[in-house]
Amino acid sequence: MEKKQLLGLFPQELAEELAEYKLPGFRLKQIFQWLHRGAGFADMTNLPKALREQLAERYIDQPVTILQKKVSALDGTVKMLYALPDSNCIEGVLMRYHHGYTLCVSTQVGCRMGCVFCASTLNGCVRNLTAAELLGQVHAANTQIADGHVGNIVLMGSGEPLDNYDNVCRFLRLVSLDTGLNIGLRHISLSTCGLVPRMRRFAEEGLPVTLSLSLHAPNDAIRRRLMPVANTYKMEDVLDACRYYIEKTGRRVIFEYALNEINSSPEHAAELASRLRGMQCHVNVIPLNAVEEKALRGADEAAIARFMQELEKRHISVTRRREMGDDIDGACGQLRRHYLEEQ
Ligand code: SAH
Repeated sequence: MEKKQLLGLFPQELAEELAEYKLPGFRLKQIFQWLHRGAGFADMTNLPKALREQLAERYIDQPVTILQKKVSALDGTVKMLYALPDSNCIEGVLMRYHHGYTLCVSTQVGCRMGCVFCASTLNGCVRNLTAAELLGQVHAANTQIADGHVGNIVLMGSGEPLDNYDNVCRFLRLVSLDTGLNIGLRHISLSTCGLVPRMRRFAEEGLPVTLSLSLHAPNDAIRRRLMPVANTYKMEDVLDACRYYIEKTGRRVIFEYALNEINSSPEHAAELASRLRGMQCHVNVIPLNAVEEKALRGADEAAIARFMQELEKRHISVTRRREMGDDIDGACGQLRRHYLEEQ
């Protein structure tokens, strides 16, 4: 029998799941708190040993373990390859900024969006991650921190968060519980390639995280060359969904823009600025991280600087994403890819 994961259950659901053990309320509370502090059954020392053993026979406590890690000598960034209970693996990146630790969390094993520059999508999507496996990534990362814990989360690892909608919403609700990890929604960003109906639904979910939109192009023609999803949703509809998100949540939207050889001219910057005019937004330019299996080349430094200037001239707020852990691996999804090739 496959073991069930307990970490993704709300307190009430945990009580129902464990009903046959007839545990008093305080025991259930203890179990919930231990799980959400990252503990395994064996660590739950204020529980009777027999109960711990029974639970371990039927349930999984922490579903994510670290299989491999690389630590950057430049900035301390930790890139981790995690193992899941079914032997699939995913990856995560732990970054240290002056305001604390930020974890990049994966939402699927692989991805089915097919963006031409991205390594995560090379073998398609294997499966969605459960809410427990999303939380488990935070607990696994916390074991790597000696002086604090993960304070900020970006759902920017492998996978498309809005393609795993229910589990991602469940995760957001659990991770922000004050009896759980207590990471506020204001400290969480969700990045999407722009699944318009899901973006609109998410705007109404009452989960006001920062929305990052992977735009990567000033118009539909270029966007379609980079992102197959642009064949389904027009850029104007994506931008309208962003406006709706801003209206519903009062939060500004961040546009991600990986500069490469086909989207980085000054004319592209001017076109982008005119499309974004009047929106409460910010543009985050990302130097393209070259993926060996992909032909697309990144923009050079001069083109990046020029592109940013053109946006600034037009009063579009723009920053360049700081490159972290440059010495430990290339683009997102590459650590897993190399590991799978070795196996
Ligand atoms: N599926 C979501 C989140 C995952 S990717 C999304 O599309 O937004 C997180 C960000 O990294 C996205 O903006 C994605 O387009 C970008 N990205 C992926 N591969 C990249 C690469 N090789 N270089 C630079 N950015 C990349």
